[in-house]
Amino acid sequence: MTFLEPLSFDIVIIGGGAAGFFTAINAAEMAPEAKICILERGKDVLTKVRISGGGRCNVTHAEFLPKELTKNYPRGEKELRGPFHSFMTGDTIEWFEKRGVPLKIEDDGRMFPESNSSETIIDLFLKESKRLKIEVLAKRAVQDVQLHNDRWQIETSQENFTAEKILVATGSNPKMWEMLKDLGHNIVPGVPSLFTFKITDARIKDLPGVATNAVVRLRDKKLETSGPLLITHWGMSGPAILKLSAWGARELSDKKNFEIEVNWLPELSPEEISEELQRLKKENAKQSPHKYAQFELPKRLWQSLVNASGIGAEVRWADLNKQQLEELTKQLSCGTFQVHGKSTFKEEFVTAGGVELKEVNFKTFESRVCKNLFLAGEVLNIDAITGGFNFQNAWTGGYLAAKAMTTDSAV
Ligand SMILES: Cc1cc2nc3c(=O)[nH]c(=O)nc-3n(C[C@H](O)[C@H](O)[C@H](O)COP(=O)(O)OP(=O)(O)OC[C@H]3O[C@@H](n4cnc5c(N)ncnc54)[C@H](O)[C@@H]3O)c2cc1C
Repeated sequence: MTFLEPLSFDIVIIGGGAAGFFTAINAAEMAPEAKICILERGKDVLTKVRISGGGRCNVTHAEFLPKELTKNYPRGEKELRGPFHSFMTGDTIEWFEKRGVPLKIEDDGRMFPESNSSETIIDLFLKESKRLKIEVLAKRAVQDVQLHNDRWQIETSQENFTAEKILVATGSNPKMWEMLKDLGHNIVPGVPSLFTFKITDARIKDLPGVATNAVVRLRDKKLETSGPLLITHWGMSGPAILKLSAWGARELSDKKNFEIEVNWLPELSPEEISEELQRLKKENAKQSPHKYAQFELPKRLWQSLVNASGIGAEVRWADLNKQQLEELTKQLSCGTFQVHGKSTFKEEFVTAGGVELKEVNFKTFESRVCKNLFLAGEVLNIDAITGGFNFQNAWTGGYLAAKAMTTDSAV
């Protein structure tokens, strides 16, 4: 505890990450006279932005309908609908472009700075903070926050601060969740989301790099996702798997081993697959099923599934018996795989959990528990699948919080 007079601000932003900077810059533009500072625990700010999207920063996703956009949030889907009507993808694109950082769309809808470098985003945030005279103070770990006489008292590892309004944008930091709990909030415990699956299985052992569209299902559960599936050295990854990890984050959190079903031919029913196999049996009678890939599957994957159905390379289509055909249909439409662990997805990972959403007013991102305390970004129990949606949550929350913090009372 220091005995120096606390430093006084109108708005103190706790956390120098994506949500913190976006809020600070917008608030400073909306209320140029307001005294604003950002307190960051680390020696550098914006560290996650730097490593995001494999160093390219996947800023947002080219989805322009609020209802469709919300479908990418396993937690926060309902709550973000309103906020997205006020600030979403189009606004994000315009916001960055207006400040000299045009974004580009990739084939899968992900949007990146044209420079292909997250440094462009960091440079912009730092330049804007300087221009708007926002004090950015690193190495200030916030240790306690209390309300005294309608002003927030913020204790850090160095000086103390006071502010009329604060924004907590500390991501998934457990200590800050504890602090918010002490202030009366309920916290949904954090669990990892966006992970890939470790699978040791002869069917995929020699196929790293093979990718195809598939539907993946948690066995015995209703949860299923679709999209590109990538076979890796350690198991399976790609959007279909990452989506399943996000939607199933909570239910998989305490499981190391679980079973998934993979449908390698999502456009066809098992009956249609079976009919097609019968046709191939007749028409390609003298050929080995191994010779040509069918159903436009990658050749090595097709061969591996044929093998797994007990069909050797010497067998001809004409020789396939009922059991082999049934097994091949099963391998193609609902192959079971044992998952025996989770691996971090290097390009993007997030934590599910955070401040209970019913305790937040989603028009303003103000806490319903503490007046003049605002929350944005991953500190909330909101997270998305991979693709730029997590940052969009930070931008939307940051923008609306900035607006609310600067449009009433003294600030
Ligand atoms: C490797 C990786 C890649 C990613 N890539 C993408 C991507 O391309 N696109 C996408 O949409 N999402 C991506 N994400 C997710 C995205 O980075 C987060 O959702 C986003 O950063 C959340 O922003 P935030 O401001 O809420 O939290 P953070 O960015 O985590 O910022 C919180 C800040 O608060 C600080 N802090 C914590 N405690 C204190 C304290 N007590 N006092 C002061 N400061 C404190 C932290 O040091 C940190 O700087 C990625 C995540 C990872 C890990």
